[in-house]
Amino acid sequence: MLQKIVIVGGGAGGLELATKLGNNLGKKKLAKIFLVDRSYIHLWKPLLHKFAAGSLYKENHAISYIAHAKNHYFQFYIGEMIGINRIKKTIMLNEVISKIGHVVIPKRELNYDILVIAIGSESNHFTISGVKKYCSFIDNILQAKQLYNRIFNLFLKISTNFNINKEKYNITIVGGGATGVELSAELYNTIEGLHQYGFQGLKKDTLDITLIEMGPRILPALPEKISNKVYVSLKKIGIKVINNTTIVKCNESGLFTKNGEYIKSELIVWSAGIKTQKFKTECFDLETNHIHQLLVKDTLQTTLDEKIFAIGDCASCLLKNGIYVPPRAQAAHQMATCTYLNILSLIKDRSLKSYIYKDHGSLISLSKFKTIGNLIENITNNSILIEGVVARLAYLLVYRMHQISLHGTIKTGVIMLSTNINRIVQPKFKLY
Ligand SMILES: Cc1cc2nc3c(=O)[nH]c(=O)nc-3n(C[C@H](O)[C@H](O)[C@H](O)COP(=O)(O)OP(=O)(O)OC[C@H]3O[C@@H](n4cnc5c(N)ncnc54)[C@H](O)[C@@H]3O)c2cc1C
Repeated sequence: MLQKIVIVGGGAGGLELATKLGNNLGKKKLAKIFLVDRSYIHLWKPLLHKFAAGSLYKENHAISYIAHAKNHYFQFYIGEMIGINRIKKTIMLNEVISKIGHVVIPKRELNYDILVIAIGSESNHFTISGVKKYCSFIDNILQAKQLYNRIFNLFLKISTNFNINKEKYNITIVGGGATGVELSAELYNTIEGLHQYGFQGLKKDTLDITLIEMGPRILPALPEKISNKVYVSLKKIGIKVINNTTIVKCNESGLFTKNGEYIKSELIVWSAGIKTQKFKTECFDLETNHIHQLLVKDTLQTTLDEKIFAIGDCASCLLKNGIYVPPRAQAAHQMATCTYLNILSLIKDRSLKSYIYKDHGSLISLSKFKTIGNLIENITNNSILIEGVVARLAYLLVYRMHQISLHGTIKTGVIMLSTNINRIVQPKFKLY
């Protein structure tokens, strides 16, 4: 009997893994590979803030799971995993509902011999009052689309009202991590761009963009030097950065801080920290941490079941130096490679290798304004600060590497070419 390998979640880690396993075991008919995702399309998550700001078109970057599966010898199943039965070796999938509310596929089970959980993470609202109800999030393409609609409508309102009332509007982004920082700069890029498309009232004196960080500095996970440089650049662009500020409540028109201040805001984006989705305890009995990430051993197998792996943001992997692997695309990519090799070893009854996280550095793109980051030198582990064109190229390369691991070099080249042609014929911003 062929082994059945099921991967749940076709994101930065899961889709790369399904592609590798499909191209090897699937193609040679040595195992059956299945990918399950609750969406029909893959979009590289680090691009979501650009879709939300209207500076990238989803259509130019989306990958159809059904088509990709056909080209890479695996099968795609649409559905949201809602639980695991480790005794029966099955996963439970929720019913698939159509846009008009009809049940397309009822709840069902899918059996596995080896399971890989790669379901990523979502924003953590820390049960702060009003956050879930009044804030926007950018955890998936649907949310990015909804946020863009809200932003576009706000920009339209400001632009057409500018002669009548001189009111100043405000967009607040909570969370000074990479997502919040990059989104704030991207929004400024859109504001400047839309101004050229006739949104005359949309300018610095009609709209503030405020970035709020709880800690003493933005980008707390990055070296202080980068954080300081980014802070200066954001200020120069015109973004208000407020550090040392904790949000305790949100309502429909603003945020309350721990110090008793009220920040009025037409739109609030919440990007402060992550958590993994929580499953009902009766349908899920794997060990998790306080943010519901699955605890894994150094081989990336879950602590209670060696036939179940967890990779990417949903995995809590403690390194030998006592540090946890950060929730980043580069970690998801490396974990996919390690799990690929470990699944081959598991099938052949060989010993599994330990996952070693290699930090290649971090890059922060402030849209067209600046790119800043550091590269970690391979041998000495020294951190080298980069900015300007070099940093911009390195930033673009990270996405290209993801595309190459999915499509190979030639197809990635063709995709780049067609995206560049589209950029010539399409407006620079989404205008609807
Ligand atoms: C706006 C933004 C910018 C970012 N920028 C960077 C960056 O510059 N550099 C960097 O390294 N990292 C960045 N990150 C983080 C990076 O995107 C993640 O670390 C990475 O995508 C994690 O990969 P993953 O495979 O674990 O999960 P994801 O890429 O999130 O994929 C998870 C997949 O699982 C599916 N899924 C979820 N739940 C279920 C379920 N129950 N059943 C079925 N399918 C499910 C989802 O639909 C999705 O396809 C950014 C994140 C965001 C939000």
